[in-house]
Amino acid sequence: MIYLDYQATTPLAPEAREAMLRWLGGPDTTGFANPHSPHRPGRAAAAVIEVAREQVASLLPPGGRVIFTGSATEALNLAIFGSGTRRLAVSAIEHAAVLDTAKARDPGMAILPVSSLGIVESHTRIPSGVDLVAVMQVNNEIGTIQPIIELADAAHRAGALFLCDAVQGAGKIAAPEGADMIALSAHKLYGPKGIGALWVRDGLTLSPLIHGGAQEQALRSGTLSPALCAGFGAAARICCERMLEDAEHVGRLWHAARAVLSRWTLNGSATARWHGNMNVRLDGLDVARLISELRDMAFSAGSACASGSGRPSHVLTALGLNAAQAKSSVRLGFGRYSVLGDIEDACVRLDAAAAAQGV
Ligand code: PLP
Repeated sequence: MIYLDYQATTPLAPEAREAMLRWLGGPDTTGFANPHSPHRPGRAAAAVIEVAREQVASLLPPGGRVIFTGSATEALNLAIFGSGTRRLAVSAIEHAAVLDTAKARDPGMAILPVSSLGIVESHTRIPSGVDLVAVMQVNNEIGTIQPIIELADAAHRAGALFLCDAVQGAGKIAAPEGADMIALSAHKLYGPKGIGALWVRDGLTLSPLIHGGAQEQALRSGTLSPALCAGFGAAARICCERMLEDAEHVGRLWHAARAVLSRWTLNGSATARWHGNMNVRLDGLDVARLISELRDMAFSAGSACASGSGRPSHVLTALGLNAAQAKSSVRLGFGRYSVLGDIEDACVRLDAAAAAQGV
């Protein structure tokens, strides 16, 4: 199986797996202790969580605090509902975790358009009265990188807070600067599933969504999993250590894949992008047939969430693609553990399967 779906999720880093094992806690260990208990094993579990918090914080700007959540989706819900803001503006290419949550909060929310290259222009006007603007750092479907510092500045000048969904960029590129809140997910940066985080700028107060035992600074009650936190922390540490090396590796894979798929049209900017995401199209391509013919390759017809719905991707249509063009697009995602020869083979086979369809 050649895995080409690094935007949907990433493999667990061996270092993260190793860090988790002790805290999974069988009866013959103390690693199962409740991190909120005051006894010694409890305090040891709490300490491992605080180490993990620091490790995750090292992926983020200084001047804020990290709150662990169950996912990035939960972190985004906490930001949107917990910030007390009511009039929202979000980019047209946000993930459903932002789009649907923002709509639930403000059914009349403003949508910030993107250029045909999939970028929210930095001079985009923020409608008056908006008190929260959300723009993602790296798009999950097409990989484009947004001008976060300029957009956060525009939001602040308009009197709004700025939320950045950094799920696809965290641990891969430098932290977004200027945001008031940043959401992350461990399983997109080689950590475990079931844990995310919200970074909150110092001085900003939020209200909890989940009430109970007042864990996580009373913002997210519920017993934390030391194993998941340890895995997230170790994954974050490795990302910090290998950020340049990982980016160079992914850059090499990108150029090799682009060389093989040179007749395919790239969706989104060729330059302002994370190179581990290649969303390409061929007019007339039957993507469902391609996926069923290439069963030993795991790739996506759009975002993992939208694919299978039959609807053309809202991201690709926001770029100005028509429904047919959007539906003839595939997303290839690669990362740290992808092997150059595999990526080249996969692209050769993808191109041959498309040619066999007559496109
Ligand atoms: N935001 C983006 C850009 C994503 O790609 C995803 C996952 O696909 C999410 C948010 C949701 O993350 P989680 O799976 O941690 O809820």
